[in-house]
Amino acid sequence: MIGTVQKNTQTLDSIRAVVQKHWGFDSLRPMQAETFEAAVQQRDAVVVIPTGGGKSLCYQAPAAVDDTALTLVVSPLIALMKDQVDALTARGIPSALYNSSLNAQQRREVEDGISHNRYRLLYIAPERFPDAGFVERLKSAGVRAIAIDEAHCISHWGHDFRPDYRKLTELRRIFPNTPIHAFTATAPPNVREDIAQQLALNDPLIAVGNFDRPNLTYRVKWRTGLFDQLREIINTHRASAGIVYCIRRRNVEETCADLVRAGYRASPYHAGLTADVRKQNQDAFTKKETDIIVATVAFGMGIDRADIRFVVHTGMPKSIEAYQQETGRAGRDGLPADCTLFYTTADFMTWKSIIQKSESEYLDLHIRHLSAMLDYCQAPTCRHCLLVGHFGQAYPKSSCDACDNCLNENEAIPDSTTIAMKLLSAVVRTGQYFGAKYVADVLTGAKTEQIQTRGHQSLSVHGLMADTDPRLIRAWIDQLAASEFLDVGEEYRTFSLSPKGWELLRGQHEARLFDRPEFKQRSRRKSRPARAATSARKSSAFVAPCADDEDPCDSELFEALRCLRKELAGESNMPLYCVVSNKALEHIARTKPMNADALLDTPGIGAKKIAQYGQALLDCVQQHTGS
Ligand code: ADP
Repeated sequence: MIGTVQKNTQTLDSIRAVVQKHWGFDSLRPMQAETFEAAVQQRDAVVVIPTGGGKSLCYQAPAAVDDTALTLVVSPLIALMKDQVDALTARGIPSALYNSSLNAQQRREVEDGISHNRYRLLYIAPERFPDAGFVERLKSAGVRAIAIDEAHCISHWGHDFRPDYRKLTELRRIFPNTPIHAFTATAPPNVREDIAQQLALNDPLIAVGNFDRPNLTYRVKWRTGLFDQLREIINTHRASAGIVYCIRRRNVEETCADLVRAGYRASPYHAGLTADVRKQNQDAFTKKETDIIVATVAFGMGIDRADIRFVVHTGMPKSIEAYQQETGRAGRDGLPADCTLFYTTADFMTWKSIIQKSESEYLDLHIRHLSAMLDYCQAPTCRHCLLVGHFGQAYPKSSCDACDNCLNENEAIPDSTTIAMKLLSAVVRTGQYFGAKYVADVLTGAKTEQIQTRGHQSLSVHGLMADTDPRLIRAWIDQLAASEFLDVGEEYRTFSLSPKGWELLRGQHEARLFDRPEFKQRSRRKSRPARAATSARKSSAFVAPCADDEDPCDSELFEALRCLRKELAGESNMPLYCVVSNKALEHIARTKPMNADALLDTPGIGAKKIAQYGQALLDCVQQHTGS
């Protein structure tokens, strides 16, 4: 019967019996029962369940109910299909995959199996759909249901749009009466609606699981000395499993090599490695032969390890959805896990340039995702609440006790509300269409050409915060945006007052602003000529990209320090990096410490190194600065 639905033999009881028989689960996870119900009613559905929530069972169990009907599973991940098919076959559920990895003989076998109703589940890649012969074969065999995994890839509103998924818009036409169930771990309300629309779903059930992960503790920190920051986290989870995400492949390689050198069991994973190496490293992680995977976002979908105790982002992710998915891989066993994100505002620009190079036609959308992510980073409020709010859910508690903000790890400055009023006034007086840098320039009394042309040097707010570091002012403006006192422009990051901002100006709200120790330190130091140190930065794996608000490194001093290190290494017969790392040298060349106390602030320099090399390093700085 072409294009019609097979007789449905599923009931809720029969599906539950299958769950018990083939999987041995006595209870269902949130949204699984609802999805089974949709299968029984042959109703379309969009099912959003966070990573690890048990999506596969939602389509595998109904598919296993009787021994003739076929369920199609569309998945983008060819590598994972085989694992899924092997696992189902081992449970006694006949299944197959049909993708480009099959040779002609294997393809014929699967085609024959389809025609003879041999399979309960057939995994296919989205690009199979234009293949008319294959589609006809499926139609003749009859398809009971279609499950689409990673369904957010169909929506260009989502963070991971894949052109191949667009082919799935044909499914409804090809199988007009077959229920379609779209599954994703990550879809805010607008993406859910778009999925339903793109797939032409008919009155779909929208089932959304609980997005909160109470066992995860979220922290966001300014990136200073990355390797030391990273090591601190790894050391608190000694010999536990963790994922370290990096923005670029190059950072993956460097970070992984440094971790291995420091004695950790770490393996790299990124799209530039061969499929064999990627598989080998992923398998080593699954089999607990390696503890840490250092990866780009290429790593993740379908990781089968439930005991991941920490996820570190060494740079800002490109969207909240991506962050939620990547951190979602931690603590899938329900035990506590830590998710720490290190960032500087330069990460925004790094992503922007990556996206621009990819020539995506959705640049504006990506920028909005980046802006939302930056707001999350700078937010002074509960991170659990922000994350579930992003997915359209209310957070029931006033404090989560599981994020840096609720744990009061970041202390609010005492005069926050007064400062916030000054900042908001400056936004209003300058006309509500400038970015944070301009507002900060006005408040600190800068006399730039732009300020003079616009006559803003005569505003009452000009110079109102002359003693404050402009980078701190910019950070506070971002914090006010994250607390919704300011609205952010869609195209550029410009600011205007939100209704809540106006209420704050009228004294109806309190603000909480956080200090940024790294700026405080700098404002105490005497100013130095701004000189870039590209060569210095290039030579260190852990030198974070220098944010536009970071003091530049003094390249001459850096070179002098490197010569000194060479001498010291020769004297003590040690490898260079064991004396002092490049990253530490760059920090010294930026901060120019004048005494042992200040030198101790250098990442990687502890009391022992001070005793061994402290005086020589300080002498070098002193000679160079002439002080
Ligand atoms: P997702 O695809 O949503 O990331 P999976 O389908 O891989 O999640 O399921 C995650 C884990 O949860 C798997 O080990 C699976 O066997 C288990 N699981 C799924 N449903 C249940 C259940 N009802 N009871 C117990 N474990 C379950």
